[in-house]
Amino acid sequence: MQSAVDLCGQRGARLTALRRRVLELIWKSHKPVGAYELLDILKNERRNAQPPTVYRALDFLLELGLVHRIESLNAFIGCCAPDTAHPSQFLICRDCGAAAEITDNRLDKAIAGLADEAGFSVLHRIVEVAGHCPNCREQGYE
Ligand SMILES: [Zn+2]
Ligand SMILES: [Zn+2]
Repeated sequence: MQSAVDLCGQRGARLTALRRRVLELIWKSHKPVGAYELLDILKNERRNAQPPTVYRALDFLLELGLVHRIESLNAFIGCCAPDTAHPSQFLICRDCGAAAEITDNRLDKAIAGLADEAGFSVLHRIVEVAGHCPNCREQGYE
């Protein structure tokens, strides 16, 4: 949490109480969290929690790189290295819903190279891999 506060300070951004709480809830969760799930928790804690405030807080955290959006789940996950610019790919468990971030430049380079060969300019790429996490595999899933 302190590193998030420091990062905001460095970038001249203000981590308000609500933004901080949203970040805490995302980091605390072992699985990616959806906006409505966050809203439900926040509504119990503070009366003024409305969808736009929660979406604004999420946009703020996304912009700073403190959280990532997992498109296939429409949910958010804390970033493992928010202080550096990096590519993100995700491994998502079909059984328990846990997601792990992997960051490998080779994938982005391969996509960029292939797109280039096809004369295609890349604006956005999403790499989300569905499967079974080590814990679930141990419990017998393949
Ligand atoms: Zn990240
Ligand atoms: Zn799992």
